[in-house]
Amino acid sequence: MKLSMKHLVIISLLFYLHGQNLSASDNMVIIIIDGARYSETFGDINHQFIPNMWNMSAGGTIIDEFYNDSMTYTSKAIPALWCGTWTETVDTVNNGYDTQYAVKPSIFEYYRKQKNIPIDKCYYVLKYITSLWLPSFDPDYGPDYWQTLHSEGSTDSDVSSEALQIMDACHPGFLLIYLADVDSRGHSGDWNAYTNSIQITDSIVAVIWNKIQSDSFYKDNTNLFVTNDHGRHDDDHGGFRGHGCGCDGCRHIMFLAMGPEIKENYISNQYRRIPDMAVTACHLLDVNSEKATGEIMAELFEINAISDEQSSTIAGDFSITPIYPNPFNPYVTIEYALKQPDTINISIYNYLGQPIITLVNSKHNSGYYQVKWNGLDNREKPVSSGIYICVMQTTDQTQTRKLLLQK
Ligand SMILES: [Zn+2]
Ligand SMILES: [Zn+2]
Repeated sequence: MKLSMKHLVIISLLFYLHGQNLSASDNMVIIIIDGARYSETFGDINHQFIPNMWNMSAGGTIIDEFYNDSMTYTSKAIPALWCGTWTETVDTVNNGYDTQYAVKPSIFEYYRKQKNIPIDKCYYVLKYITSLWLPSFDPDYGPDYWQTLHSEGSTDSDVSSEALQIMDACHPGFLLIYLADVDSRGHSGDWNAYTNSIQITDSIVAVIWNKIQSDSFYKDNTNLFVTNDHGRHDDDHGGFRGHGCGCDGCRHIMFLAMGPEIKENYISNQYRRIPDMAVTACHLLDVNSEKATGEIMAELFEINAISDEQSSTIAGDFSITPIYPNPFNPYVTIEYALKQPDTINISIYNYLGQPIITLVNSKHNSGYYQVKWNGLDNREKPVSSGIYICVMQTTDQTQTRKLLLQK
C-alpha cells in the first residue's frame, strides 16, 4: 500500500491519540468468582459479605443487570467469559489428563497475537487443577498465542498470593484470576462456609486493587473487572446448594468495573450478559475480538475526557464547533467552519485506527457547515457501540475528536 503524506499525518495523529489519550489504560485485570449468587453480593442491600467491593464501587461502575444468559455451570460459562461468546468445547487430552478446549479464540489469544505480547505478560492464575481447560486451536489464533497457565495452590488465598507474586515479578499486562472456593463451599450446603468464602474473595479483590494502586507499572493505567460465571438456585428452585438451571438465582451475577476509563460512582441498569465481558475488556485493551458475539458495554466508560475536548477551537483558517450529542445514538452532528475556501475531508476511524467511513471530501467555500453520521460504515452496515475517532483535515490542518456510540 502506498502511503501519501496525508495518510502519514493521520496515522501519526491516531498513534499519538492512542498513546496519550484514548488508550490511557494499557493493562487489564479480571477476577472471576465462581458461583456467588447476586443476593449475597451487590444484590444484598446491606452488602454484608462484600464490604470492600461495596466501598470500592464508589470509584467505579456496578452493572446491576448482569446475567449468565445461557448455561449456568462453570465448564461452559468460563469459556464464554474468556471468548466473548458462548462457544462449543471439545474433549481432548492434555498432559495425560482428559480436558476440553474452546472452539472460539479467547481474549488471551486476541491480546497476544494482535499486540505481539510475549507469553509471560499474559497470565491465567488459578488453583492447582490437573485437567486444565484450554483455549482454542482456531487457525488464526491457537496455541502460539495461549496465555501462561499458572495453576498452583489449593485455596483462593493461595491463588491470591500467587497472583500478587506474579504481578510483582512479571507485571503481566493482562491477568485473569479465577477463584473457585465460593462454588465448592456452596455445594457443601454449609451457609456459613459459603458466605465466609465470599468474604474472603471480597478481601482478595481489595488486595489486588490496592496492589494495582501501589505499583507504578499498574497505577492509573489498569482497569479491573470482577464478575461470576453463574449464580446459585434461588430458594424456590433448590437454594444455594446447587445451580445449573434458568432461575434468576442461577442467572443473575455481579459485575464491578474499576479503573481510569470507568465511570465513577455509577450503577447501570442496562441488561448485559456474559459474552459482553471479554468484548469490553478487548475494547479497553485496544484489541479486536473479531470472532466474539458480545457487545461493548459503552455505558461503563468515562466520557468527561470526550466532553472536555469539545470546546470550540479556532486554529488558523479552520474551526470545529462541538460535536453533539456525545455519546450518540442513532446519529451525531459534526459542525465545522472554514474561514477561507479549502478542501476538507472528514472521516471516521475505529479505535484501532481502521477507516470506517468518509463523510465529507470536497472543496468548500468559507462558512459554517454540518454533517451527520448515523453509525453506519461505508457498506452501510451498523457499527458496534464504542469509541470512534472523527478526523477532520484541510490542506494544512488536522483535528480529531472522539465520539462515543452508545446503543
Ligand atoms: Zn458448581
Ligand atoms: Zn437455578
